[in-house]
Amino acid sequence: MTLDLASRILETLENHGFEAYYVGGCVRDWLLSRPVHDIDICTNAHPGDVIRLFPDHVPTGLKHGTVSVRIAGQFFEVTTYRTEGKYEDYRRPADVRFVSELRLDLARRDFTMNAMAMNRAKELQDPFGGRADIESKLVRAVGEPLVRFQEDALRLLRGVRFAAQLGFSLEEQTLAAMRKTAPLLSHIAVERVREELNKMLGSDSPQIGCALIHEIGLFAYAPVLQRLFREAAAESWRIVHVNTLPQKWSLLLYAARFTVEESKAVCQLLKMSKRETEAIVGLVELLRRVQPKWDAPETVEWGQLLLDAGWDTCEKLAVILQGCWWNRQEQAHSLMQALAEKYRAMPVKTLKELAVTGLDLQVALQKKAGEWIVRVLRALLVQTALHGLPNTPEALIEAAQKEVAQDEH
Ligand code: ATP
Ligand code: MG
Repeated sequence: MTLDLASRILETLENHGFEAYYVGGCVRDWLLSRPVHDIDICTNAHPGDVIRLFPDHVPTGLKHGTVSVRIAGQFFEVTTYRTEGKYEDYRRPADVRFVSELRLDLARRDFTMNAMAMNRAKELQDPFGGRADIESKLVRAVGEPLVRFQEDALRLLRGVRFAAQLGFSLEEQTLAAMRKTAPLLSHIAVERVREELNKMLGSDSPQIGCALIHEIGLFAYAPVLQRLFREAAAESWRIVHVNTLPQKWSLLLYAARFTVEESKAVCQLLKMSKRETEAIVGLVELLRRVQPKWDAPETVEWGQLLLDAGWDTCEKLAVILQGCWWNRQEQAHSLMQALAEKYRAMPVKTLKELAVTGLDLQVALQKKAGEWIVRVLRALLVQTALHGLPNTPEALIEAAQKEVAQDEH
């Protein structure tokens, strides 16, 4: 996303006598030459004016003064200068007041780097020294830090997340205020906490985030999370080297030596979806089976893992193992190759590919349906996939008879 398209909105507003600026994250990211993903615009025009000037709009948050304007298929949030009313329960306030001064709008924002505005000519409005803080790589609260974190405790985690994303430090007084107000994070909805944690884990320096969480004591109210980030901190740099969020979470949980049950508890505590939870817990389970040691690559017995977890999951596991063995890349390199070779070499890969069905076994062995069928089929799969048993009805039925006889014996 580029600022150019949005400049048409600024231009229209200016042509009608209003002030209009790019504001917040997009200005920060533009100054840092980072990709800009959403462009926010602020203006002294009231929402009614914005709606009138831009027929192609969606009134996304009229109460808060926000109108989403569409230009060439893309949406841009246009928000009237505002301050925020009384904060309740350490969360963002319900009511807002429109104001006529840009500075007041910037003053309500959380960190100096997020409290800058820029006009169409790329001239900066920076009353709180955001640009200097960016140059010094500092996350600094706007105004009185204690007050700002008391107003909205999500800012605690946003601060940590920005430090991790940008590789910044927390300015001293900001950090001191965060230590004091850390317990307030417990007032924030778990979904918002999860969102921020996901962004932190997906950042370029998750180890900065994990260390700060530990140092500030952000999760003193949730002991399982506190332990997770403390125990995983030393190895958390590795999660940069895996791709997806489930991979990142599972590597973090493994690094903290969490059991499968404890990992599930973390997912549930953070109200992750069933799908996400299954993906994460499944990978933790496999990691705990393989038990990789840091930077000490070993040969992996892929055969049984492939049969139990399937190709897709094993491929993800291999990526995580590369992260576990990151400082020994030359040795870890053959990991993917070994996995692919093993997979290719397996003549059958799933129960469905066996030359017999459960019903065939029932008829051939003259036994009633029951649990034994899946168990025997799985045993046959292992033998055909990994130990050379021919995948023919005759061979499979003979092997099945032996299995059953052994069981009964
Ligand atoms: P990103 O979009 O990269 O996650 P961002 O800074 O753009 O980061 P948004 O949540 O998109 O974050 O918010 C846009 C702007 O709104 C921020 O830059 C900041 O100025 C302001 N803002 C967002 N959340 C808060 C908050 N909790 N307290 C104060 N200001 C906030
Ligand atoms: Mg944003």
